[in-house]
Amino acid sequence: MRITSRFWSAVRKRDWGTAALDVVVVAVGILMALAVDEWRAEREAGQQESEILQRMHSETVQAISDYTTRQERRFENLDNLYNVRRLILNVPPDDALSESGCLGLVYSRRISFADTRIPVVEELSATGALSVIQDPELRNAALAFINTRDRELAWATLWSNQMHDLPFLFPDLISIGLKVADDPEDRDGFGLAPVCDLAAMRKDGKFQNALVSNVANIIDTVEGMEGSLWPKIKHLHELLDARLGIAHPGSHAAKHPPGGSSL
Ligand SMILES: [Zn+2]
Repeated sequence: MRITSRFWSAVRKRDWGTAALDVVVVAVGILMALAVDEWRAEREAGQQESEILQRMHSETVQAISDYTTRQERRFENLDNLYNVRRLILNVPPDDALSESGCLGLVYSRRISFADTRIPVVEELSATGALSVIQDPELRNAALAFINTRDRELAWATLWSNQMHDLPFLFPDLISIGLKVADDPEDRDGFGLAPVCDLAAMRKDGKFQNALVSNVANIIDTVEGMEGSLWPKIKHLHELLDARLGIAHPGSHAAKHPPGGSSL
């Protein structure tokens, strides 16, 4: 007999015991089905989260590597400019302005801003699906990273728009020549061979002001990234490592250059 007909037959017979038992059996069945559904949904969500975190980890490692490489280059360029600024402002020790120092002046307006992206975080954030990451600390760290990155990018854009194009503004002080490239694979076979007139630069207050302003803007950009973006991406990586149980032999943090400064 089907449970529904047995139930109605029990009701007709006023057999309340059997009727109540049938209700309990049905209720327990429904609850069990719901529990299985819930368990399955949770397992799927957990699986999806774990795949996303794995991807986030490898993209974070990649972003850190990009950031570190570019930041090392930015610090090298900045150190080069510190030295050139010292020479031009006539601060001892007196020295010749090297070709790489002169090239630093040609390119002083350019800041290579790391394309520090973690695509999976951008995707989740853009589609409002960040809640897939269940751990609130991890979710907040991912959000904080995006917000800081965008803010630093906005600052870098602002500073770089205010920078002076030195060879364009001062062609008498910096002339850009060409030389045959050392590398036979070079695309056009030539490289830049700028010539800087150090003696004239030392007498030109307007040039010196433009240079000092460029260097200050570069410092602000480089230190802004170092002071706010770097800790955010590092923190996100540490949380991901802890969550996924990943250990890196030889921390990448050790390679990170300290912010050197002179003058
Ligand atoms: Zn890791």
